[in-house]
Amino acid sequence: MNHDLIVIGAGPGGYVAAIRAAQLGLNVACVEKTPALGGTCLQVGCIPSKALLESSALFEQAKSLGEFGVRVRDVACDLPAMLQRKNQIVASLTAGIGSLFAKHKITRYQGGGRLAGGGRVVVAETGGERRLEGKHIIVATGSLPAPLPGVSADAGLIDNSTDALAYDRIPEHLVVVGAGYIGLELGTVWRRLGAKVTVLEYFDRILPGADAEIADEARKLFQKQGLEFRLKARVTGVVRDDQGRLVTCEGSEPIHCDRVLAAVGRVPNTRNLNLDAAGVACDATGRITVNARFETSAVGVYAIGDVIAGPMLAHKAEDEAMACVEQIVTGYGHVNYNTIPGVVYTEPEIAAVGKTEEQLKEAAVNYRKGVFPFRANGRARALGHTEGWVKILADSATDRVLGVHIIGPRAGDLIAEAVAAMEFGASSEDVARCCHAHPTLAEALKEAALAVDRRAIHF
Ligand code: FAD
Ligand code: NAD
Repeated sequence: MNHDLIVIGAGPGGYVAAIRAAQLGLNVACVEKTPALGGTCLQVGCIPSKALLESSALFEQAKSLGEFGVRVRDVACDLPAMLQRKNQIVASLTAGIGSLFAKHKITRYQGGGRLAGGGRVVVAETGGERRLEGKHIIVATGSLPAPLPGVSADAGLIDNSTDALAYDRIPEHLVVVGAGYIGLELGTVWRRLGAKVTVLEYFDRILPGADAEIADEARKLFQKQGLEFRLKARVTGVVRDDQGRLVTCEGSEPIHCDRVLAAVGRVPNTRNLNLDAAGVACDATGRITVNARFETSAVGVYAIGDVIAGPMLAHKAEDEAMACVEQIVTGYGHVNYNTIPGVVYTEPEIAAVGKTEEQLKEAAVNYRKGVFPFRANGRARALGHTEGWVKILADSATDRVLGVHIIGPRAGDLIAEAVAAMEFGASSEDVARCCHAHPTLAEALKEAALAVDRRAIHF
């Protein structure tokens, strides 16, 4: 079968590439090995984790509604209902991608795809193999959970994020290895639902890539909520014991627990793609090497999303999908890697875009810093979420915004303004002079921008 474009993988990278290419008039096929579309993000990542974060947050909040003047009795956790709600959200969204494919007349093949060289793709379908030919091929096969390095454990003793999104019983004691995105989000879910949660982290801080001041504040707040952290702890083994599992680590006492979740990053998924034979090169970390046009070392083969370098985030994969397809069709397409936001959906949320203070210091960039705490924001007080602050870093000479870091209520939504400001090359004064509705959490951004020039009004 001949197509203008064959996309391998239907995650946020692959499905967005397929839809955009169809919009631009290409005859598109998408090869996906799982029966549902949407990839890690929709099936076992962003969406199910946010569904459980929401359910668990409401459960926790319901127990303290008295301070809002709302009396509730008999608050209880109905885990099967929470899991069912999560599954329904996943099912409706993945079905939605199916409808979008139908609307855009994208041909869908279910099976494992592999490159066969010279514009050819072989799809391993139930009952046989199908051969496809495409003028262009985009590899968007995503990533898989990284195994715990150097840890020997019996099969089934260590869970990954997919397991931890579907526990049918609340763990008594969950040990999470890794204080990154997944460790903090899923650790928070199960803590809220009643588990004791201990987070082991290899480094001496949580969220190693985040602004240090923000990460330190986050650790203190999460500790207050009941998460236990053991930093500088390297797990050496997990064995079965009478309580379930015994986790041994360097730099920390052994821990008895009933669940162990490994959340130590993800690795690119290039399994069974036949990359070598097709002439597609990878870097030392196993990610497919691409140039600024997302071209691999094989002519006509492109790669996007988690399978190439950069942050493993759904919106990064989507933006690369758009840029890659637009490059193919129009000759122009671009991703600004300096303005890709990152959000951790805990409470408070943590969101950032641009450079951290540590990065600016290392690059010897002179900057000014404006900080505004949510406790001085009227809306945050009304919401009952006053923890955290907004920090804006601006170039000392030009006042251009170089980085924005937020820990606080709805930080993930607030960061969008910072992204737009940075995309348009705004100065902190530009942000400060924009009219922000009152009373909103967004006013904290305006005040932090004013604070860069030491003229915040409410703090
Ligand atoms: P994927 O979504 O991994 O999709 C790849 C697809 O390719 C899969 O459907 C796979 O089945 C298919 N595939 C693989 N090999 C083949 C083959 N040979 N043939 C055919 N099909 C194949 N990111 C965020 O931005 N926000 C979040 O809140 C967030 N939360 C997350 C929570 C968790 C628990 C996890 C695990 C991840 C989370 N992420 C989040 C990361 C996000 O899911 C990924 O960055 C994103 O899904 C990457 O998109 P992708 O299209 O590159 O790959
Ligand atoms: P991560 O890279 O965010 O965090 C991994 C953590 O594990 C790091 O702090 C690292 O220092 C630590 N670590 C690594 N090896 C260790 C070891 N042997 N012992 C102890 N600690 C160790 O990775 P993740 O949390 O597994 O998530 C994977 C990726 O998925 C993320 O990087 C992110 O790109 C994506 N994700 C994003 C979101 C979001 O956007 N909200 C949510 C979940 C996942």
